[in-house]
Amino acid sequence: MRLSMNEATALEKSSLERDLELCEKYGYDMIEPRTMDCMVDYLKEHSIEDLAHYFETHHVKPLAFNTLCFFNNRTPEDYQKVLDELRQMCEWGKAIGCKTVITVPTVDLQKVTRQEIHESAVKCLKEMGAIAAEYDMRISVEFIGGPTASINTFADAWSVIQDVDMDNVGITLDCFHFHGMGSRLEDLAKADGRKIFIVHLNDTEDFPIGALVDADRVWPGDGCIQLDKIFQTLKKIGWKEDVVSLELFRPEYYEMDPEDVYRIGKEKSEAVIKRNF
Ligand code: ZN
Repeated sequence: MRLSMNEATALEKSSLERDLELCEKYGYDMIEPRTMDCMVDYLKEHSIEDLAHYFETHHVKPLAFNTLCFFNNRTPEDYQKVLDELRQMCEWGKAIGCKTVITVPTVDLQKVTRQEIHESAVKCLKEMGAIAAEYDMRISVEFIGGPTASINTFADAWSVIQDVDMDNVGITLDCFHFHGMGSRLEDLAKADGRKIFIVHLNDTEDFPIGALVDADRVWPGDGCIQLDKIFQTLKKIGWKEDVVSLELFRPEYYEMDPEDVYRIGKEKSEAVIKRNF
């Protein structure tokens, strides 16, 4: 099992350049570049070809772009911006060898029914999947485990993915988001593991379901998420991606030296990985 670093984990004191160096130094195999800030900052001083060259000449490789935000139930103008952003990520992906774009559902919709959400999500993802396919890339939908997110459980996300029914459109299973709205292992057990494209590894303090926020995330193994049960279920349903990505958003960790975040993150992640794989 390979280990990836999501740039959110050491966000405030690091940068894409530094994160790449730290991945090499601490033995992370892959990285998830953040498109909304770290990539933008990097491209002020470098070209996309510089980044491609870095990946060609180092061990670390790009796993997925984070994040194409709020794809469903948008106005036509806003949805067009989502598609433009997707094309930009696909161009970057082609240049640096990154195969996957992570997209998240819209939050804070007012009085939109579950059926309207499902129908919009399926329609949008079919279009987005077709665009990504032009670049031989994948779309991975990350459901968000909070009450205001329009797709917030594994079961709802899976039902969308089944109706989209495209080989290059699948799910990002973030362990925190899986726990956040009480997604059920029984629902995961019924899914096809080949459609779980990305797994975000993390843990959380034990606040009530529906009350958890990203800042509650803690090192894998230090919280209350049933990580072993999630991984054992993933194995049973034929999940074969062979990489998990550490993604935390904890203010206390942002205060730390990024070197320590990478070092401790590796130790904590490997302990969970070793007892499951
Ligand atoms: Zn995530």
